[in-house]
Amino acid sequence: MNCILRYSLSLLLVLSSAALSHAQDEQTAGLDTTSFNRDIRPQDDLFEFVNGTWLKNTPIPADKSNYGSFTKLADLSEERLKAIVEELSAADHPKGSDEQKVGDFFKAYMDVEKANELGAAPIQEELAKIDALESKEALIEHFGSLDQMGVSTPLGAYISQDAKVSTQYIVHLVQNGTTLPDRDYYLVRHEEKNESARAAYMQYVEKLVELTGSSIDGEEVFAFETRLADASWSNIKLRDAEGRYNKYKTEDLAKLTPGIDWSVLFEASGVEPGDEVIVNTPSYFEKLDEIMQQTSLETLKEYAKFHLIDRFAPYLSEPFVIAHFDLHRKELAGVTEQRPRWKRAIAAISGGRGFGALGEVVGKIYVQRHFKPEAKEKMDRLVKNLLKAFGTSIDGLAWMSDETKAKAKVKLSKIRTKIGYPTKWRDYSALEVEPADLVGNTIRSAKVEHDRQVQKLGKPIDREEWGMTPQTVNAYYNPTKNEIVFPAAILQTPFFSADTPAPLNYGGIGAVIGHEISHAFDDQGSRYDGDGNLNNWWTDADREAFEKLTTQLVEQYDGYEPLPGKFVKGDFTLGENIADLSGLEIAHRAMSFELDGKDPIEVAGWNQDQLFFVGWSRVWARKYREAEMMKRLLTDPHSPSAYRANGPVTNIDAFYKAFDLKEGDQLFKPESQRIKIW
Ligand SMILES: [Zn+2]
Repeated sequence: MNCILRYSLSLLLVLSSAALSHAQDEQTAGLDTTSFNRDIRPQDDLFEFVNGTWLKNTPIPADKSNYGSFTKLADLSEERLKAIVEELSAADHPKGSDEQKVGDFFKAYMDVEKANELGAAPIQEELAKIDALESKEALIEHFGSLDQMGVSTPLGAYISQDAKVSTQYIVHLVQNGTTLPDRDYYLVRHEEKNESARAAYMQYVEKLVELTGSSIDGEEVFAFETRLADASWSNIKLRDAEGRYNKYKTEDLAKLTPGIDWSVLFEASGVEPGDEVIVNTPSYFEKLDEIMQQTSLETLKEYAKFHLIDRFAPYLSEPFVIAHFDLHRKELAGVTEQRPRWKRAIAAISGGRGFGALGEVVGKIYVQRHFKPEAKEKMDRLVKNLLKAFGTSIDGLAWMSDETKAKAKVKLSKIRTKIGYPTKWRDYSALEVEPADLVGNTIRSAKVEHDRQVQKLGKPIDREEWGMTPQTVNAYYNPTKNEIVFPAAILQTPFFSADTPAPLNYGGIGAVIGHEISHAFDDQGSRYDGDGNLNNWWTDADREAFEKLTTQLVEQYDGYEPLPGKFVKGDFTLGENIADLSGLEIAHRAMSFELDGKDPIEVAGWNQDQLFFVGWSRVWARKYREAEMMKRLLTDPHSPSAYRANGPVTNIDAFYKAFDLKEGDQLFKPESQRIKIW
């Protein structure tokens, strides 16, 4: 039940699962021009001009797959969390208190000797349960309990708002259960990287067999996963909000998959789905039914064992940890070194990408120590300015009718903003944490989260729930709640600082705010109304005009080639590219509202507009390992950072004016070809 983020939130960026090392430089409030590459002109490459020297002189740390502005801030969050967790771990706290749970989770994680002594013991009982299954029906039922432990199975399920009745939660079924990051890794066999991933997968299985004594035939399991991949929808198809909205009567699931008894599965995973469910990927399930019938019970059990071990390998003895790293981080992300254990412990507690076991407990302390109320006040004002700017932009659109404009403004007026941290924190009272039971803690934590999700069914929508912890350096738009959310940790330099010149803030956090607002109006977000329902509020002619513009943007990004022969997928990244373009345009407009007519701002010889675009470009300072870049081109709906910096500005007149662009400059487009959406 943990794939909600993947399908319903539009994030500012996809965080890599393992960020993080010591902050490498001082966070300065003003403009640091030492990162600039003066050999490059901003008119030719704004990204390289602003970040070139930094890019050249900054190696990607050995334990990271990519490194840049976001990671630097994530490192800072990590250091702060370390201090919090170590403090809690060093003192005694009453059993059952949140402080005890954090402290003991950390202790259990750091006890590598204990983990090594236990070897595979913590999961042997679970492996034996799978070995004992005597039929496919029993296995499907068992998938229900594996799901509760966070083990992935082919029967993906999660609970989220009904996109057409946004006041209700409903069970969603979705493709799931492959190990490699994207279906292409299985299906595009002639590529070297995919062959290499396959070989690493086989070695991994072999190692796990050796370490657990379980019998698992890697070739058979891989062949099964390949069939799952083949049945799966592409990431591009999955973006289609209408396409993945397929409501079924729960009783009719038997027609979709005659061989899978969902009622048994639901019962085993403690889910009471009610009369209806949403099937995101119906054709996948039709094929899955066939695949399950054609695959032997033995192979299915071996598949389940492999996924169980893979899930818990990071918490077992060092040989497991290394084997897991070798496939998931070294092979698939190009990382050369394992993160130190304490960093992995912090991620498990605080949540790297997700919430971790106790993400909001440490988040609450993080906020008390590191988030200033003034930042919230300043953000409130910025958001207000951005929303106003978006409204005036709608008024001025040449391609949209007044009828649709009025509806767009209704949606805009209903956007809700969350800044910093939740007003209501999650309750972890059901979680038991033992100081010497790492795997047990992990399983219990997964179950608590599973139950939290399941208990949403039948209840009113929790409007105060957050999809990210406050210590996360990111932001998101949630279309079914029509809300924009900015965690505390992104409200820092280079995005935002109370004492930085205003144009840098507008080019930084201003454009981030604009980005999230724009998601409400991107190619998918615009299909939802102000109440979070998929509900077409457009006239056909306006939709057509909009799609003509977005098609041009697809073509622009299709032309970017981050690695030789490897291109950005313009249709996969469209929503994010719209948000980047419109967000930047709106942020510039909002800045003009606030600053035009006042004393001109100048820093280090740069004027207001130039500073704005410098501020934009510097937040995208980032570099990637090649394997990570390859993976992201298939799995990350955001364009690589260089194109996030350079792509939008080619369409923005203010950029042309700021740097006096002329025909022949690399970033120049004739006025008639500049794309203006919002
Ligand atoms: Zn986004």
